Amino acid sequence: MRAAVVEQFGSPATVEERAIPQPGPGQVLVRLETCGLCHTDIHAMNGDWPVKPPLPLVPGHEGVGIIEEIGAGVTTRTVGQRVAMPWLGHACGECRYCVDGRENLCEQQYNNGYGVDGAYAEYMLADARFAVPVPDGVTPLDAAPLTCAGVTTYAAVKNARVTPGETVAVFGIGGLGHLAVQYARLVGAKVIAVDVTDEKLQLATELGADVVVNARTTDVVEAIRQQGGADAAIVLAVAPSVFRQAFDSLNRGGRLVLVSLPAGGELTIPVFDTVLKGISVIGSIVGTRQDLVEVFALHALGRTRVITQTRDLADVNRSVEEVLAGSVPARLVFAYHTADLVPVTEAVETVS
Ligand SMILES: [Zn+2]
Ligand SMILES: [Zn+2]
Repeated sequence: MRAAVVEQFGSPATVEERAIPQPGPGQVLVRLETCGLCHTDIHAMNGDWPVKPPLPLVPGHEGVGIIEEIGAGVTTRTVGQRVAMPWLGHACGECRYCVDGRENLCEQQYNNGYGVDGAYAEYMLADARFAVPVPDGVTPLDAAPLTCAGVTTYAAVKNARVTPGETVAVFGIGGLGHLAVQYARLVGAKVIAVDVTDEKLQLATELGADVVVNARTTDVVEAIRQQGGADAAIVLAVAPSVFRQAFDSLNRGGRLVLVSLPAGGELTIPVFDTVLKGISVIGSIVGTRQDLVEVFALHALGRTRVITQTRDLADVNRSVEEVLAGSVPARLVFAYHTADLVPVTEAVETVS
């Protein structure tokens, strides 16, 4: 099978032939159809974060494919079933967080494409219980970005405890932001989209943002204040200035929801304003399997749109450069086994 492998941090990935792995007890072998390119994969490839992945590593935590083999003891998944392999590749199922519905905080978790090999390959192994079924009505091309960008922003909107009629400001309209705008709308918020490129703001408008603000040409805080301020600010961008802008745009009782993970990032906010205004600062990390089930269900109902362009795995390094240059509309998705993927082939034609 083909796999994109990181041998050394900061060096280009190499696309090489590897043996197809065999599923152990409790595992499934998945023949991948698609995998999205998440910014976290680039951090993994560069070894940017304090906890570094073991090398060599196959990145990828937006994998979607068909179960080809099941290991001993697997009773809840079947050969031929389409599943998604998110960041949360495994959690213990026994700790207080797993038991009370916050398995994304489990300390025994491991992560696909970081702690174990992920979906930048034609096949991968997965813990069967954490390979989430993809319902009919969700194509593999759409399912891939929903598997991280979707579930992460869906959970962020939930964690922001938005009520209908409140205002949500989304900072950063890319793979995550284009979905955050839609989830914020779905819970009844007025949505303000903030970015530095007009093309992305145009996309946000098409996806339902009520107001757009170009942070390169406009005073963001002033613009949001003129709209009555934000009750929740969801930070998906990594520029240091964004965090303070998001904080300063909040109303009393506002929630600052941190999602993006800039390398070496630190947050500096005034204690006085935080206390007097009753501001909450919330860290939001991916979502649970149930969150992903809900994300897929909403998409199958036609409530969300996923904006993608497909790439071949051979172009993995060029694709990373495209993402870093900000030149892609929302999400790049690697498509494998294109014979399986009629909708993907059509999508390739429409975007090229
Ligand atoms: Zn991700
Ligand atoms: Zn646990």
